[in-house]
Amino acid sequence: MDALALAQALIRRPSVTPKDAGALDVLEAALKELGFTTHRLPFGDIDNLYARLGDTAPHFCFAGHTDVVPVGEGWKADPFAAEVKDGMLYGRGAADMKSAIAAFVAAVAKTGTPKGSISLLITGDEEGVAVNGTVKLLEWLKARGEKIDHCVVGEPTSVGKAGDTLKIGRRGSINFRVTVTGVQGHVGYPQKAKNPIPALAALVSQLAAHKLDKGTDHFDPSTLAFTTVDVGNEATNVIPGEARAGFNIRFNDRHTPESLTGWVNDRAARIAEESGCTIDVTAKTSGVAFLTAPGKFTQLVSDTIAGVTGQSPFFSTSGGTSDARFIKDFCPVVELGLAGATMHKADECVAVDEIAALTDIYAALLAAYFAKPPL
Ligand SMILES: [Zn+2]
Repeated sequence: MDALALAQALIRRPSVTPKDAGALDVLEAALKELGFTTHRLPFGDIDNLYARLGDTAPHFCFAGHTDVVPVGEGWKADPFAAEVKDGMLYGRGAADMKSAIAAFVAAVAKTGTPKGSISLLITGDEEGVAVNGTVKLLEWLKARGEKIDHCVVGEPTSVGKAGDTLKIGRRGSINFRVTVTGVQGHVGYPQKAKNPIPALAALVSQLAAHKLDKGTDHFDPSTLAFTTVDVGNEATNVIPGEARAGFNIRFNDRHTPESLTGWVNDRAARIAEESGCTIDVTAKTSGVAFLTAPGKFTQLVSDTIAGVTGQSPFFSTSGGTSDARFIKDFCPVVELGLAGATMHKADECVAVDEIAALTDIYAALLAAYFAKPPL
């Protein structure tokens, strides 16, 4: 089982979300060859795959996705030809994250039958809305009474080299919209109108100036960023009746969506009272903050990486959200994969040597895990 060849075969299936384009067929065939029992689990318009080798505990799961983001503009390489040039493998999904899946499969082939179980939980819906993928796969597993003990997500979380970073958590993300409603009127008679713009400006500056926290043991400080302020008033003689703004908060384990919504509502209510405008706040959470606290499992992964690369990984909680935010409710989960510098970009690529390095790390991890399970 050659990791590079399998990565190339996967990249040659243009599986742009929600299309599968045969990518899961390629993976399923490779896993069957290794003795895995496979299940194809289509939910809605998304195809997914669960495969398990062995039926006893401990149960080590590798989670990931075969879908990729659209090609976009500006490629010099063919995004689905999976060509190797000067030691680099080019293609959409080379970094995020078909090569990591291939590396894991090659690692299983290297280490052989486990003293326990190895599974792969692979979705075709990570880059999309993530509704018909990992969440439903996990529910399906639970309904069958299958228990995962530990999970590694193969997202491209490394910085320069495979294994230099181990993601042990992620910040949460929540989007807010605020709408300030006043009374429209003539600019010459402002006393007969109620201008929503100064009220919105006050709210924007108060929220933007507030320090949410100073960071926690494993997280950077939470951040708030305004994404838009809209009035859209073309007239020079009209005070508008409404003004809107939007912002996103990336938050650490000191906050919850409820605590943040409460804080924003509180500020908005105070400004509404002062200004006489009404302020409507809506919030949509895309993920809560989570942390796999450093312990036996993270230590095992860290020691294994150090044994292969000569350097312990940096424990990180930065970046966007990933499907690990769903898995964390079922078992300890960390993210370990390739360097992600080119993910989602034109000419996405990864060094062939790095695929081999990640294969070695995954193989060493499986060997260490089943030799002494961190239970
Ligand atoms: Zn990804």
